[in-house]
Amino acid sequence: MARSVTINPPKMCQPMGAILAYMGVHGCVPLVHGSQGCSTYPRYNIARHFRESAEVAVSSLAEDAAVYGGARNLTEAIKNVKSRLDPALIGICTTCMSETIGDDVKLISKKAIAPNDTMRIIPASTPSYVGTHLTGYDNAMRALVETLALKGEPNNKINIITGIINPGDIREIKNMLRIMNVRNIFLSDISETLDTPIMPGGHRPLLPDGGTEPSDIIDSANSLGTIAICRTAGSAATYLQNKFKVSALLAPAPIGVANTDKFVRNISMLSGALIPDEIKKDRGRLIDCMVDVHHYMYGRKVAIFGDPDLVSAIVRFCAEAGMNPTVAMTATKHKDFAPDIKAVNTEYKTDTQILEGTDLYEFQKVVETQGAELILGNSKGKDVADDVGVPLVRFGFPVYDRVGVYRYSIMGYNGSIYLLDLMTNAILGHNYDPDKLHQ
Ligand code: SF4
Repeated sequence: MARSVTINPPKMCQPMGAILAYMGVHGCVPLVHGSQGCSTYPRYNIARHFRESAEVAVSSLAEDAAVYGGARNLTEAIKNVKSRLDPALIGICTTCMSETIGDDVKLISKKAIAPNDTMRIIPASTPSYVGTHLTGYDNAMRALVETLALKGEPNNKINIITGIINPGDIREIKNMLRIMNVRNIFLSDISETLDTPIMPGGHRPLLPDGGTEPSDIIDSANSLGTIAICRTAGSAATYLQNKFKVSALLAPAPIGVANTDKFVRNISMLSGALIPDEIKKDRGRLIDCMVDVHHYMYGRKVAIFGDPDLVSAIVRFCAEAGMNPTVAMTATKHKDFAPDIKAVNTEYKTDTQILEGTDLYEFQKVVETQGAELILGNSKGKDVADDVGVPLVRFGFPVYDRVGVYRYSIMGYNGSIYLLDLMTNAILGHNYDPDKLHQ
C-alpha cells in the first residue's frame, strides 16, 4: 500500500542550510524571519554537531503576523541585531510562515536601515515547503554573491564554494591549495566560526573570529574560476559565470582517488599551478592504504545515505576500494545523483540500488533486501544500523551521538585515507566471524 507519510527523513529545512552559509561569513549574523522554533531547531542542531553555540536571530512571528504581516517584527529584529551586535552583514532567511504571508523582505529590510548605513542586508528566500537544507544553503550563498560581488581588477584567485561540509574538510582543502600555492576565496568558510579555538587572554569577540571577509565575497567576481565542491551548492558559481564570466566548474566532491584527481586537475587547470610532489605522495599513500586493507574490505557490502554529493562520491570510493556498495540513498533529489551512481555501476560492474527523495524507512527495507555489512551516514541512521545489526560509520550533518566528527576530513587524499581507516576499523571491530575477515 502506498505510504502517505514520511518516516525518519535524513534532511532538514531550508533555513538550516542558509544559516550555515551565513555563519561562514565574518561578521554576519543570520536572522530567521519566522517563528521562534524556526531558529531554535537549527541552533539545536548546530550545538549538537559542532559543539558551538550559534548567534542566530529570529523575528519571532506569532499569530498576529499571520493576519497583519511580519514587517513590524522583521524591522524590530534588524534594529535589535544592529544595536546589540553591530554586524557587518545580516543574512536573512525566510521560513514557511513568512513565505506564506508573502512578506516583501527586500523592501522591509531596505526601509529598516538608514540609506547611508554601512551594514549590508542579504535577503534569501528559503521557503521550507520546497527543497531541503541544501536548497537553503544554495539560495543563501547565491544571495550573498548576488548582493555583494562587484567587477574589479583580476585577483588571480580561485573561488571554492564548499557546500555543507565540515570544518575539518575545509581545512584539508585549504591545505591542498596551500601546497599547490594557489590563492583562494572560500564561499563560505565555517572552519573557524564553527570550530572556534579558546584563546589565552580572555579573547571573547561578540561574533566569532574567522569566516570569509565580505570584501572577499565582493572580490569573487574577479577570480580565475569557481569550483563548487558540492554541486548542490553550485548556483552562485553559475551566477558568477553568467554575470562576470568567472568560469564555473561543478565537479564531484573530492573523496576517493578519481574524484580527488579531478579536483586537483581542475585547480591546476584554472590556476596554471603544477601538481607538486607533496600532493602526489598523499595520493600514493591513499593507494597504499587501499592495498593494505584490501583483504579486509574486498566485496564488503556497504549501504550509504546522506547528501547527494557526498553519497555519490563515497559510493565511487567504496567501489575503487573493492567494496560492494549495495544501496545509495539521498533525501534531496539532484539531477547528478542517479547518473553518478549508474556510472560507477557501469565502470565497476556493481549493482548499487538508487534511492532518491525518500526516507530511512525505505532505506532500511532496501538494505534488508540487498544486504549490508556496514552503513555510512549521519546520526539519524543509528536505529537502522542497530536494527540491521551492523556498524554505522558517521559522516555528514548532523552527527550528534559522537564527538569530534566535524573536526576531521573525509576529503582529499588524506581525508579519504581517514575514511577508509574508519570503515576498515568498523568492520574489524564488529562481531563478524573472524574466518570471514580473510586474515
Ligand atoms: S519546516 Fe518551516 S516551520 Fe518548520 S522549522 Fe523549518 S521553516 Fe520553521
